[in-house]
Amino acid sequence: KLYNEVQDLKGNIRVYCRIRPFLPGQSQKLTTIEYIGENGELVVTNPSKLGKDGHRLFKFNKVFAPAVTQEEVFRDTQPLIRSVLDGYNVCIFAYGQTGSGKTYTMSGPSMSSVENWGVNYRALNDLFNISQSRKSSIAYEVGVQMVEIYNEQKYVCHIFPDVFFNLRTLGIWSTTQPNGLAVPDASMHPVKSTANVLELMNIGLMNRAVGATALNERSSRSHSILTVHVRGIDLETNDILRGCLHLVDLAGSERVDRSEATGDRLREAQHINKSLSALGDVIFALAQKSSHVPYRNSKLTQVLQSSLGGQAKTLMFVQLNPDVESFSETISTLKFAERVS
Ligand code: ADP
Ligand code: MG
Repeated sequence: KLYNEVQDLKGNIRVYCRIRPFLPGQSQKLTTIEYIGENGELVVTNPSKLGKDGHRLFKFNKVFAPAVTQEEVFRDTQPLIRSVLDGYNVCIFAYGQTGSGKTYTMSGPSMSSVENWGVNYRALNDLFNISQSRKSSIAYEVGVQMVEIYNEQKYVCHIFPDVFFNLRTLGIWSTTQPNGLAVPDASMHPVKSTANVLELMNIGLMNRAVGATALNERSSRSHSILTVHVRGIDLETNDILRGCLHLVDLAGSERVDRSEATGDRLREAQHINKSLSALGDVIFALAQKSSHVPYRNSKLTQVLQSSLGGQAKTLMFVQLNPDVESFSETISTLKFAERVS
């Protein structure tokens, strides 16, 4: 194995916690973050209710403090990402309440700010560069696909259902998907560089079914999955290996007040609850090495089934908002994380 990281003895599920900084104008004084340890320890406290909730200790594979840069976060994620070149399937999730930094971690604040690129653009860039520069007998092709899951039963495919860039002039890879993400009306856009892919992704984002202002609103209530399919061909033996990387910006995990939400809003909330708890159940079952893994309980876990469990690797970014106002959501996020780690 060329790009496999050192095997993690804990198995194939790891959980990283990332705390976003206070935003300009927010008071820095009242934070729920009491302590961040070197080895993934996190202590949270509710300073406005001292003594009542007390201090709580949580343990992760890693905790990223607010000042940690996008580059540093990527560095700790890169080995996992590169393992797709060895034929592994990898899922990376961002979980947390709306406003906790999920999109920042996965995509960054904007595509034009290269130094603040999130995991997805860096991953594409890295896989593209590596597969081009590598002096080996394996030739790689990379395809990109984006899917949104909204209200459980639907998934919407963006403008570039399949983007393929060809390496070493191997020709264009077929549109039929090897990884279970069958997408209707797939059209192909051969591209030559990461910049091309990013351009198409941008168009894809802007062409979502809703307008720009509604986009933020809507994105907090849908799961968005960017999938990078990699196919490697050993030029000596003609053996083919496939790997895929799913980068998932989950819907906001906040609980919606049942007394206030009605109609569409309530239905959305119920679908989100259902799919996030189904995801938690699947990862929990995998962590327990349970013989029954309940993939069928949500669209999200069905779509990702082939990349969850077995040899596949999973990374969950648990995103926290340090604000005291968010304390109860922070605790419920941490409880979710505790269960899956
Ligand atoms: P979510 O996707 O979870 O709703 P966002 O990623 O949109 O949250 O983040 C909310 C706000 O916080 C955005 O303005 C974002 O730019 C900012 N933000 C989040 N994480 C960071 C970070 N690590 N550094 C700087 N700003 C951040
Ligand atoms: Mg978001």
